Amino acid sequence: MAIPLVVFGFAGCHVASSESKDSSTILVHAAVSESETDSAAIARNDGRGYRTASLRGRVVWMAEALDRRYGITTVPEAQERILAIETVDGDVFPIVEDLRGRSFRTDERLRAIDVELLVLRYDGVSMVQILAIHKIKDGKKYIIDYWCDICSIVMFETGPCECCQDDNRLRMQIVEE
Ligand SMILES: [Zn+2]
Repeated sequence: MAIPLVVFGFAGCHVASSESKDSSTILVHAAVSESETDSAAIARNDGRGYRTASLRGRVVWMAEALDRRYGITTVPEAQERILAIETVDGDVFPIVEDLRGRSFRTDERLRAIDVELLVLRYDGVSMVQILAIHKIKDGKKYIIDYWCDICSIVMFETGPCECCQDDNRLRMQIVEE
């Protein structure tokens, strides 16, 4: 699988959050590991590992999906507690709510489009962790992120720029395959 190498441009801005750096580290690590080993699983000390996967579908609230699909009723305070990707194959995977995961909570536009998520799947863990968000429209694929035109930096969530505090914007760039 080809892993898109995302280059994070923090030039001119020194207030990038530590969480942003952590996420970029994971992305680069995943890319390097896969290219070096071409292996689906990456061994860890405990024998368990993780691997990348692409999941197509819609991001939904887990409680809503459980109710719609199985008639499972959850308590009112759990309605918007867990985000999940409901795939075109009919699977529902809960999403780790890090910065990329939380973007589906903070920007409802992302829950209204067909997406393809590049994720990490960990052995023995049902939750998936998002590495990259793609929008699928008319058979074309677009990578989604948030961008500040003034500072030229990428962010994971809608809101004020981490640097100049001006509003960032949802950015979609076509992915040539
Ligand atoms: Zn800015």
